Amino acid sequence: MASLKSVTEWDEVVDILVCGYGCAGASAAIEAYDAEPGVRLLVIEKAPQEFAGGNCRVSGQSMLISKNKDALKDYQRKMSAANPVTEELLDDWADRMVNLEPWIQQIAADAGQEFLRGTGFTERDAVLEFPELGARDAVAYTSTILPIPSGVWMALKANVEKRAIPIWFDAPLVDLIQDPDTLEVFGAWVEHNGQRKAIRAERGVIVAIGGYESSPQMQRDYYGLSNVVPLGTPYNTGDGLRIMQKAGAEMWHLRNQGQSGGIWPGIRQPHQKTSYLRNFMLPAFSWFDIDSTGRRFYNEANELQLTHYKEKKHNRFVDVPLNLAHPVHMIFDESTRLAGKLVLEVMTWAAVVTAEEWSEDNSREIESGLIKKADTIAELAELIGLDPATLEDEVARYNAACAAGNDDIHGRNPDTLLPVANGPFYAVPITPSIVCTGGGAKRDMDGHVFGHDGQVIPRLFEAGELGSFISDLYQNGSYLTEAMITGRGAARAALALAPSEIAVPAE
Ligand SMILES: Cc1cc2nc3c(=O)[nH]c(=O)nc-3n(C[C@H](O)[C@H](O)[C@H](O)COP(=O)(O)OP(=O)(O)OC[C@H]3O[C@@H](n4cnc5c(N)ncnc54)[C@H](O)[C@@H]3O)c2cc1C
Repeated sequence: MASLKSVTEWDEVVDILVCGYGCAGASAAIEAYDAEPGVRLLVIEKAPQEFAGGNCRVSGQSMLISKNKDALKDYQRKMSAANPVTEELLDDWADRMVNLEPWIQQIAADAGQEFLRGTGFTERDAVLEFPELGARDAVAYTSTILPIPSGVWMALKANVEKRAIPIWFDAPLVDLIQDPDTLEVFGAWVEHNGQRKAIRAERGVIVAIGGYESSPQMQRDYYGLSNVVPLGTPYNTGDGLRIMQKAGAEMWHLRNQGQSGGIWPGIRQPHQKTSYLRNFMLPAFSWFDIDSTGRRFYNEANELQLTHYKEKKHNRFVDVPLNLAHPVHMIFDESTRLAGKLVLEVMTWAAVVTAEEWSEDNSREIESGLIKKADTIAELAELIGLDPATLEDEVARYNAACAAGNDDIHGRNPDTLLPVANGPFYAVPITPSIVCTGGGAKRDMDGHVFGHDGQVIPRLFEAGELGSFISDLYQNGSYLTEAMITGRGAARAALALAPSEIAVPAE
């Protein structure tokens, strides 16, 4: 933290400083404005304007809608069993969840966009991740705001712009200005136009600056994940963890029992920092994944996108071992190559923001060398540095399972057992990729941040994925809604405070 001694002059004075212009930051700004239209607000965002929006902008845009508070609580309690959260928190969260839909609908209507029941890109009305834990009663439906992609983000952005709330882009939060004894927050240091600016926030600072997906070192240190690449914004580099730790906050959920958002099969262009998602809707099944030894290692054609890439092992849901099997390759034949783009284009930073065109028949990616092509399996193995005899044997085993209609080793659904037989043959590297991280400062649903003594740090608020209350398994549509709930809660809690008394910098 920085103390008041670091300030000689305030560059800006506001009531509430909102840090981060993603889902939680935008929701906080809208709520604060609507609750008190004259409130002095400033939103600061690390990314340049064209790259703002965080993971929200490139997410699947699914929002969980529940109509049954008790069932939702029960489901979340069971999903969090390995790392429990308090009943009080569950109750408060579930209460806000069952009351959230009208606000989302209003945001959509005010932006002139359509609120939709469903995911918007599949026929599904609801994504039920863990029915055996109570998903069916807890989830009324999945919802989104059209268009796909980015509809939810577009609606939030339109609402912020409509209210003419000031935003500084290219302006990362660097540090909080606090009383070193009481930890009370008076404002923040922000970098803007190459200069450090001292921002006075008389009622509070809301830190909503996302996770640490784009910090490979934090991935290793906190999640124990090597080699994983983000699917979302490259600007979420874990600044919030450093700032919250420095501010004296108690941390939680840095390493959940599983990677809540899951470790997904990504495909990364070598020159990009983030991955595309492999197309889980590809209408072709003459393919499988192999690990670093050239062997299959999981039920790759299972609908794992419905459980955020968790599979049931030892009677519990655990992450698929994509990171442990690394380097992983997808092996496929001409039928799969011609079935459509290998990557999904409705979400991810690579597809939505960087948006380099992926060729319809994957031919350009073969020409670029990302996808390796060979006439025989043995030649293909050599191109990707594997033992030809092993890969030939694995293809033969897989094709025999297809012929028998029974994958007795990995249990692939017989409907998805199509042989890799129609040459030429292909291999593409699969990059273990993640949608999010949840760790951060321990907080409540109003975004109050707790210090090591269990007391609230005065005037410090946190919202969104940074410090998420999700501690293990994850139900689709919970992160965006949690970001909305905590952003709005933090805004109201900050507004409820009288301005802090130190109005002039210390000598
Ligand atoms: C591919 C993908 C699919 C997903 N699908 C879904 C889904 O369908 N449903 C769902 O509920 N969730 C989904 N998620 C997760 C969801 O997008 C995030 O959890 C959610 O956006 C979190 O909101 P947030 O405001 O906390 O963070 P973000 O939306 O990531 O916003 C954080 C903002 O803070 C900015 N920032 C970072 N550091 C600083 C700093 N130092 N100072 C100022 N600003 C800073 C970032 O640039 C960013 O704009 C998905 C995520 C991904 C990547």
